[in-house]
Amino acid sequence: MSTYKFFEQVNHNFDLAAPYTRFEKGVLEQIKVCNQVYSITFPIRRDDGTVEVIKGWRAEHSHHKLPTKGGIRYSHLVNEDETKALAALMTYKCAIVDVPFGGAKGGISISPSKYSVTELERITRRYTYELIKKNFIGPAVDVPAPDYGTGAREMAWILDTYRQFSNDLNAEACVTGKPIQQAGVRGRTEATGMGVYLGVREACNDTEDMKALGLKPGLEGKTYIVQGFGNVGYHSAKFMSEHGAILIGVAERDGSVYSEKGIDPDTLLQWMKEKGSILGFPGTVSSKEKYKILEEQCDILIPAALENQINEKNASKIKAKIIAEAANGPTTRDAHDTLKKRGALIIPDVYLNAGGVVVSYFEWLKNLQHVRFGRIEKRFEENSMKNMIDAMEKISKTSFSDQERLNLAQGAGEFELVMSGLEDTMITAYLEINELRKKHTVDLRTASYINSINKVGTIYEQMGIFP
Ligand code: GLU
Repeated sequence: MSTYKFFEQVNHNFDLAAPYTRFEKGVLEQIKVCNQVYSITFPIRRDDGTVEVIKGWRAEHSHHKLPTKGGIRYSHLVNEDETKALAALMTYKCAIVDVPFGGAKGGISISPSKYSVTELERITRRYTYELIKKNFIGPAVDVPAPDYGTGAREMAWILDTYRQFSNDLNAEACVTGKPIQQAGVRGRTEATGMGVYLGVREACNDTEDMKALGLKPGLEGKTYIVQGFGNVGYHSAKFMSEHGAILIGVAERDGSVYSEKGIDPDTLLQWMKEKGSILGFPGTVSSKEKYKILEEQCDILIPAALENQINEKNASKIKAKIIAEAANGPTTRDAHDTLKKRGALIIPDVYLNAGGVVVSYFEWLKNLQHVRFGRIEKRFEENSMKNMIDAMEKISKTSFSDQERLNLAQGAGEFELVMSGLEDTMITAYLEINELRKKHTVDLRTASYINSINKVGTIYEQMGIFP
């Protein structure tokens, strides 16, 4: 374990970047501190009739933009320092991808697997009620989302609870990551993984960087290992493999699987759902040791679980040339330095896992607009394209096949629009941080923080500080 607390580590990364910005000490301090933390304990009745006290937090790191935004985590490891650190990462992440929110994070200190679904529902609803009472939730105030240990089901409970206390027309925008049938947006589930793939693709398209690592540009044929096969790990793998990369190892809670020949993410997910474990997956070597696999030879290592997984104990043994941080804070500061010294390319969390919040932003916009993306224009676009195809056929005196007509005259629906917005965001953000990296001769993490500090600091300089 790292000797530094998680929030200290985030602040250390901030401090490395701050000298490259123009802000005075006070402004820097205001960006760094956590603006508001709500710590709460409440009782719930368990299915066996006993009462248990539950501990939770919600941290709003930065009010430079409202609402604040960030997931809610259910894990026995959750604590106040972690919640504040994750909230700070949300501030920097949102700024990097130009999503107009301050950062926040919530957490409840429970192991979800030890509770029944009805108990989890009671916990979620009570926690939401406590947030409402203290004005820590609302479409214009603070908007939660899924994180480690939570998903669309919990978000639906949050919305339903919020609705009991509010007749706000925009109530649906009080939380994101909801099921599609309950005002969610298509693509939110895949979003973080898709963003990871897009970010890695951008990094691998940099010819100079790849040359320095002794790799060919592009994703094709690159081997990778994923730690954590939850929503983020699985979707990252799915999109990486669909675009030519080869999954050779997966680590999960109870061990790891490895195959030089490659592992199909979908078949592995199916196996995990059926057996409750990845172990024993046909064609792979299974091991109950879950950390050793991170040290295997591969081109890209994708930590997609929790913080501090790459630390001073294993950093010097890790051989991957690229570390793609799909999780929040997976690399400790010392481990970062060790990897950097060895010449590894680290694609930092604050950029790489931002896909989730980008699509959360789209979901929030959809809820405020009260209309599905593409609903108004899809048919119009298709009809215009059909007219154009007819005209082209007339002029060229040839005709397209039915399939060709179908492909050419396809209007964009919600999923396509969401994915296109996400792709554009990830490309633009990479260009920005890559430019800052070259300008200041720093690594991608420091460049990402410089970018965030510049954006957040400019707002604090102009407003919100009373005489
Ligand atoms: N929990 C996710 C994250 O850490 C998503 C946050 C959101 O969508 O608000 O980025």
